[in-house]
Amino acid sequence: MRHSVSWTSRPASPPGSVEGRPDVAEPGRLRRLPKVELHRHLDGSVRPGTIWEIAQEHGIPVGCGSREELERSAVIRAPMKNLDSVLARFATQQAVLCSREAVSRVTFENVEDAWRDGVKLLELRFAPAYIAEGKSLSNDDIIDGVLDGMLRAMAAWPIEVGLIGILPRSFPIERNVQATEALVRWRMSGAPGAERICGFDLADREADFDPALFAPLVERAREAGMGITIHSGEETDARHIATALDVYRPSRIGHGIRCWGDHEVMRRLIEREVLLEVCPTSNWITSAVPSLAAHPLPGLLRAGVPVCLNSDDPNLFGIDLVNEYEVCAQEFGFGEPEFTEMNRAALRHSFLPPEVTARAAKGIVPS
Ligand SMILES: [Zn+2]
Repeated sequence: MRHSVSWTSRPASPPGSVEGRPDVAEPGRLRRLPKVELHRHLDGSVRPGTIWEIAQEHGIPVGCGSREELERSAVIRAPMKNLDSVLARFATQQAVLCSREAVSRVTFENVEDAWRDGVKLLELRFAPAYIAEGKSLSNDDIIDGVLDGMLRAMAAWPIEVGLIGILPRSFPIERNVQATEALVRWRMSGAPGAERICGFDLADREADFDPALFAPLVERAREAGMGITIHSGEETDARHIATALDVYRPSRIGHGIRCWGDHEVMRRLIEREVLLEVCPTSNWITSAVPSLAAHPLPGLLRAGVPVCLNSDDPNLFGIDLVNEYEVCAQEFGFGEPEFTEMNRAALRHSFLPPEVTARAAKGIVPS
């Protein structure tokens, strides 16, 4: 799936040939680099072949007559008008998450994809209310399916996995209340793997909703021991990030790139050591940045804002996480020092317990 996006803003050098950076130029070097990924949506990254197979099995219309046609149409290959246009393309993926078994399969495949990217520690996120929309599928079915897929994948490959529950801001509040209660109840349940539900997130349409509406739910998750990350400042301005810091006191922000140029917000992120989970290609596809070359990531890293590198919705964008490392190498001249710094920051900010992050640290933090 790599390089299926037409990179109009990228230099025409072959994959893995990163001029001027001998530490990353060797083919396969970036794939083998041990990585931490904290921002990947399992309900935003369903393999096109899996969409086709589940749709065939369950008679779900996907608007395509063949697997090949679906594989072409299911991937967004060029920038869309804005974030809303991209969110509309999630519908097919959402439709096939139609049973506990389908949710388990997609979770398993997300972990497998990350492992193939060289990820040693993955935090995978999902929105129960979003997955359940329009189906007779309960929050319990969904969480049970995610845990099943995660445990099967962790048994198959040497990778540590944590789970983050998401509330989509645009959904009815009672559905988000129910999802929060289900996530907390499962976390405390003692069920196998349930303690790995370690994070809590808000996503979707930041500018349209009163932040105070979700504050009690964020506090409920925090009291249950979950770490807090908030999608903010993706295409909204820095004031929204400042509000998110005030209202939710997160230790991480999803995207947050619009802090760039606002010295006060950047200072707060640095002083509070709030990590930005940065996803360059996603930002380009949603037109949050005009080009990959114009992405503020190198400036943020140089300024001392904690940042890490992520794929967001890789199957939707036709990329993998290694692609994001190649983007950084080719567009920003990043090499192993920058990648190591970002992976160490990600590891420090993981919501998984220290004994788990310590196991994943081998190869990322030189002893
Ligand atoms: Zn995201």
